[in-house]
Amino acid sequence: MLLMNKIAGTNGLMVALLLGGLFMLYGCSGQAKENEIVKKDDAKTKQSATKMPDSYWKKKLKPEVYQVTRCSTTEPAFSGKYWDNHDPGTYRCSNCGELLFDAKDKFDSGTGWPSFTSAEKNSVDTAPDNSLGISRTEVVCKHCGAHLGHVFDDGPMPTGKRFCINSASLDFNKAK
Ligand SMILES: [Zn+2]
Repeated sequence: MLLMNKIAGTNGLMVALLLGGLFMLYGCSGQAKENEIVKKDDAKTKQSATKMPDSYWKKKLKPEVYQVTRCSTTEPAFSGKYWDNHDPGTYRCSNCGELLFDAKDKFDSGTGWPSFTSAEKNSVDTAPDNSLGISRTEVVCKHCGAHLGHVFDDGPMPTGKRFCINSASLDFNKAK
């Protein structure tokens, strides 16, 4: 009987260790974010998108979109849906639907990523990004925090800015 208890105890410990290991595999960097507030009320997504936990986005987004917008990766040049799109229309955040860019501000940068001279007013935030040993300025959706791309000071007039954005971060709505 004592032996049985000992085995059962060992198994319980093993299960706990296995479960812990599974949680470690979750998310962008292998870190669980279980302590964040989980809010599943979709009707309130518009107001609380910024507070959504990683698990919400992982479930909601296609894997390739999740990787770019929530893990801040960059899609390969000339691979996205919109780098060569010349149609008039608007570009919204692929995560939350917020209006971000207008096709009238899009230009051919030759980089293989959708490029804009400006973003819609109050639609994006910027932050210093020193990853990869390069000093860049990251652009994120102001509403939901999705990684969009980077902004550089080598764009054409009138702004001189070049918003270099991943297609995976955008949803295009063609003008009717
Ligand atoms: Zn967004």
